[in-house]
Amino acid sequence: MLELEQALQHIVTRIPPPVWETMPIAQAHGRFVGETILARVDLPGFDSSAMDGYAVRADDVRGARADAPVRLRLAGQVPAGEMFAGCLSPATCIRVFTGSPLPMGADAVVMQEDTRVEAGAPEEVVFLDSAKPWEHVRLRGEDVKAGAGLVQPGDRLTAGRLGLLAAAGTSTASVARRPVVALLGTGDELVDSATPGALRPGQIFESNRTLLAGWIERAGAIARPGGLVPDSLEATRAALEQALAESDAVITTGGVSVGSRDFVKQAFQDVGGTTEFWRVAIKPGKPFVFGRCGTKLLFGLPGNPVSAAVTFLLLVRPALWKFQGATDLHPETGSCLLAEPIVNSGDRRHFVRVRLNGKGEARLSGVQASHRLRSLAEADGLVDVPAGRTLEEGSVVPVIRFAD
Ligand code: AMP
Ligand code: MG
Repeated sequence: MLELEQALQHIVTRIPPPVWETMPIAQAHGRFVGETILARVDLPGFDSSAMDGYAVRADDVRGARADAPVRLRLAGQVPAGEMFAGCLSPATCIRVFTGSPLPMGADAVVMQEDTRVEAGAPEEVVFLDSAKPWEHVRLRGEDVKAGAGLVQPGDRLTAGRLGLLAAAGTSTASVARRPVVALLGTGDELVDSATPGALRPGQIFESNRTLLAGWIERAGAIARPGGLVPDSLEATRAALEQALAESDAVITTGGVSVGSRDFVKQAFQDVGGTTEFWRVAIKPGKPFVFGRCGTKLLFGLPGNPVSAAVTFLLLVRPALWKFQGATDLHPETGSCLLAEPIVNSGDRRHFVRVRLNGKGEARLSGVQASHRLRSLAEADGLVDVPAGRTLEEGSVVPVIRFAD
C-alpha cells in the first residue's frame, strides 16, 4: 500500500503536459498561465498626486502650521487625465486631484483638508501644514517598472493578477486548456436525486457527482457528469469506454473495494487500461485506484461520500492543477490553531474534517465516519492526524482547505 506522498508523486509525474491557448484576459479568471508576461508600461505611468489637494514646492510651505499658515498664489489646476502646461513657479500652487500628473517643478502635494481658501481671496490658498518632499506623490514606476515580469508560467490568474496585467497594458494571455473530467457514479442502489417520486427500499439518492463537480470546476477543470452505472462488469466497461473517449480523465466513485460487486478495476483493464496502483494508506479513502489508458487517466474513488471527497482533495485536485501547468500543487494549505485535541487511535493517517472560525481556530466539524455528509458540509478543511497520535489543543497544524 502506498503512502499518500508516494501516490501523489506517482500521479503528478504521469500527467500529460498542458495544451496552451491564447485568450483575452477578461475571460481568463482562474486559468493558469504558460508564459512570463512583462509590463508594457511603468506603474504608475508618471509622477502623480495621491490626494485631492495642491501641488507645491515643499520648500514653499516649510514651517506651515494652523497657527502660522503660509499663503501661496493659486496658479491653475490639473484634472486627472490632463497635463499642466508649463512649470510651477516659486510661491505658487496648483490644484490637483487624485491621479493628476504632478506639474513640473512641484515636489509635494498638500491634501485639501490641510488647506483653506478664504472667501474674497479665491486666487490664494492658505496652507495649514507643511509637506515633506514627495509627500502624497506617487512616483513613476514605484509599483512596477516597464519590462518587469508580472506573472510566471504556472501562476494562476487571480483577480489581483488580472488587475495588474490589465493596468500594465496586457490584453491576452497564453493559458492552459481546461482538462475535461468525466464523472461516473457506480452502484445499483443509486438514484439520481432529480428523479421524481419515492426511493424504493434499499435505494439512496446519488450525491458524489454533485459534490465533486463543484470542486472539479473550482480546480479549473470542466466537469462532465455522466450517468449512474449499475454494478455489472458489462455496464462498467461500456460506461468507462465512453467516458474515456470524451474526456482527459475519468473519475469514478464506488466499486473499487474488495466486494464481489466492485467492477471498476476489472472493467478498466478490460477496456485497455492499466491500474497503476490501488490503495493508499489514509483514512478515509484507502481503496483509491489510479490507472492510465493511453494518455487518459482514471481516478477510481471510493463510494462513501466523505472518502470520495477526501481522496479528491488529496490526490485528484493537485493532479487537475498539474494538468494546467500549475507549479504550486499545495496552494490551499494553510494553518489553524486547534481549539480541542484531535485523537487518532487507528493505524492509518486520518484526515479529519474541521471547521474554522474567523480567528483561524479549528474544531472537529462533527462525527468523522466516512458516510457522514453533515460533518463534511459543516467543515472548511482537513487536518492530517498521524496514526496513533493526538494533536494537542493549542497546537498549530496545517489545514487543507476546501476553498469553496
Ligand atoms: P462502494 O465503494 O461502492 O462499496 O460504496 C460504499 C458506500 O458508498 C455505499 O454505502 C454506497 O451506497 C455509497 N455510495 C457509493 N457511491 C455513491 C454515490 N455516488 N453517492 C452516494 N453514495 C454512494
Ligand atoms: Mg458500490
